[in-house]
Amino acid sequence: MKILLWLLAAWPLLAATISNGQTFIVPYSQSYKLYMPHTTIDHLLIIPIPYQAKPTTRWLRIDGKAVKLQIKRKRYPKEHLSVAPSKVHPPKSVLKRIAAEFKEAKRIYAHTIPKSYITKPFILPIKSVITDPFGVARLFNGKLSSYHSGTDFRATMGSPVRAINDGVVVLAKMRYYAGGSVIIDHGRGIYSCYYHLSHFKVEPGERVKRGQIIALSGQSGRVTGPHLHLSIKIKGISVDPIQFIDAFNPAFKTVSSPHLGSKP
Ligand SMILES: [Zn+2]
Repeated sequence: MKILLWLLAAWPLLAATISNGQTFIVPYSQSYKLYMPHTTIDHLLIIPIPYQAKPTTRWLRIDGKAVKLQIKRKRYPKEHLSVAPSKVHPPKSVLKRIAAEFKEAKRIYAHTIPKSYITKPFILPIKSVITDPFGVARLFNGKLSSYHSGTDFRATMGSPVRAINDGVVVLAKMRYYAGGSVIIDHGRGIYSCYYHLSHFKVEPGERVKRGQIIALSGQSGRVTGPHLHLSIKIKGISVDPIQFIDAFNPAFKTVSSPHLGSKP
């Protein structure tokens, strides 16, 4: 009997599944314990799962209760691209620049400010259709080269691009691959990135509001035509922006607006 009671007490009271490249978001009221990269906003525990994560089971404790988190492997589509061999590897003259830009971005994403600028749900940066979703594996000449680390939206040259939430601009400059780039720090290790821009409307250090026009879309960097690329980084991990927003917004409303529904 004692063993049975112990087993029941240890049994997971909650179970959830999440895929690689997605973000697991769960509310907590008192405490949490886990051993994987994560952050919090108000009373939401936010856990980004890397694209490269292998299927596994992780255990968390939320308010003293065990939560079984099953990480599944999502079958992201593959994209085959045939290009001249020289296009796969950038010319030697720009390798230094690429390395410096990579290092700079990594340093930005590794930094977590304790403050959160997020007081409202996220919005999309542009009213348009998605042309290339997150996670598509890219094979250049049959060799797996990379995966699509963000969401592409259809955009003509010069379309207004809006901040998806409040934050502070930490980068606004031209880069080799991403072209005209803006990165916004939303606080607590959450960043949004906007690429291939043609014109900047903000400067580093500037405080921005959700919906504010931060840039105009373009076709700068390594692209085949004009579009807007949006990335979201959480604790340095690239996650599917659409899945993140779809998971975050309803959860955020429940923790941030206790009086929601009491108004007409
Ligand atoms: Zn893209």
